[in-house]
Amino acid sequence: MEIVDPRVDPRLVPSGSRPVVIAKNQNEYRDLPSIRTPNGQVITRWSPSEEERRAIFEGQDIYLTILTTKQVQPTRMSVGPEDWTLCPLCGKNPRDDDSKHADWCPFGGG
Ligand SMILES: [Zn+2]
Repeated sequence: MEIVDPRVDPRLVPSGSRPVVIAKNQNEYRDLPSIRTPNGQVITRWSPSEEERRAIFEGQDIYLTILTTKQVQPTRMSVGPEDWTLCPLCGKNPRDDDSKHADWCPFGGG
């Protein structure tokens, strides 16, 4: 898998999203460009090689390895872009209006 700059159509991410390079200036890791959203999402993008694409086509599953010594964060994968303006917890579309989150959602600010 190759790292790809994850910048996507701005309509797919909530306003206030910003590009952040993860592990910048950490020589033991490659730079990982990401988009951080105000909903607590960190979006990265990966491009499978032709061999990997063939394996996926033939039914192989995708494995995600997370390097951490701390608590593992909730993680999700998708094929292709998704609508990141939807709240990752309650699934509602706040569209910059926090009152539209579910009552129980911590991103609702209430
Ligand atoms: Zn929510």
